[in-house]
Amino acid sequence: MDIFTKCSEYTEARIAQAAGLYPFFLPLEDTEGTEVVIDGRRILMIGSNNYLGLTTDPRVRQASIDAVHRYGTSCTGSRFLNGTLRLHKELEARLADFVAKESALVFSTGYQVNLGVISGLVERDDVVVCDKDDHASIVDGCMLALGEMRRFAHNDLEHLERVLKGIDSKSGTMVVVDGVYSMGGDLAPLPEMIPILKKYGARLMVDDAHSLGVMGGGRGTAAHFGVTGDVDLIMGTFSKSFASLGGFIAGAEDVIHYIQHHARSLIFSASMPASNVAAVLAALDIMEAEPERVQRLWQVTERMRAGLKALGFDMGPSVTPIIPIIVGDRERTLIAWKMCFEAGLYTNPVFAPAVPPDRGLLRTSYMATHTDDQIDRALNILGEVGRELGLIA
Ligand code: PMP
Repeated sequence: MDIFTKCSEYTEARIAQAAGLYPFFLPLEDTEGTEVVIDGRRILMIGSNNYLGLTTDPRVRQASIDAVHRYGTSCTGSRFLNGTLRLHKELEARLADFVAKESALVFSTGYQVNLGVISGLVERDDVVVCDKDDHASIVDGCMLALGEMRRFAHNDLEHLERVLKGIDSKSGTMVVVDGVYSMGGDLAPLPEMIPILKKYGARLMVDDAHSLGVMGGGRGTAAHFGVTGDVDLIMGTFSKSFASLGGFIAGAEDVIHYIQHHARSLIFSASMPASNVAAVLAALDIMEAEPERVQRLWQVTERMRAGLKALGFDMGPSVTPIIPIIVGDRERTLIAWKMCFEAGLYTNPVFAPAVPPDRGLLRTSYMATHTDDQIDRALNILGEVGRELGLIA
């Protein structure tokens, strides 16, 4: 058997491409953040994770350019050996301060943070417990870990407690949840979850990829709920509000020190280039100096949510700037995506297996830099598409 046989037999994506219903890997020719150019057409973007709109901020751009001039384009090695700059250490100190933890450690992507932290900490005889809607990078970290992975139904605290009860008290246990769920836009109920974890002596790690710059005045889900002291590890990525690429983990000094010496995705992969680090530092400066940006993000979000609600859309349990519009099965979801796209609106179609087969959705997400006019334009297009597909009256 040729191992490549599966490749020539894989036709699903090609069929979608031939039907003009392929929504992935679309090359953007240009982007100003809220609007992008694809195939020469300007399209309104409501499908990015650029929550604060900082990727095109002149100060962030300039910081990145200056860093290239000073440090060059790559560190060419891992943090562990030749790839640590003073700038990485400066960023780590700033981040620890920002999320109110003792220490922080930066990795080259958020994906690598989850991979390295979970596989580094969850050793043989340990157990890691995940919400069923946790991000793929968490699941992959668990699969790489030598310890056992157990899962509980999304945000189901009774199920979580049953899972914890079933774990041998001699095992070390860590629960990993998303602070903001990346598809549903709902929150992990941290205040209710924490007493249950304490009862069973389990540690808590929260993936705040979609919460930093958004929740708790930008400082994340733990800050939002006022439970920072009870969240042992806060994970973040720089590929969303921080307008860069990379990620970090923050927590107690001894835990971060341990991770620094056991996370293989940190030790065996080159470090963040200076330009990416400098962009995050500039974004952090702006987040701290201009809290009105986070407020504006929420104004945009609430304008959109109210508009979608008035139109009659099903938005699931979303309470954040990630607002899914539930469409139905895969085909209907792709058709809705295509109709929006043709009308000049960029959304992200999500269908099974990422969501249940009848709960396919358009994932929409908002930015502090969207204008009211852009939001109203998006609502008009979604209203027309929704009526045509019978999603709304
Ligand atoms: N966690 C969550 C919840 C995410 O949405 C993502 C990115 N999509 C990641 C982790 C990985 O982050 P990165 O893009 O920095 O690899």
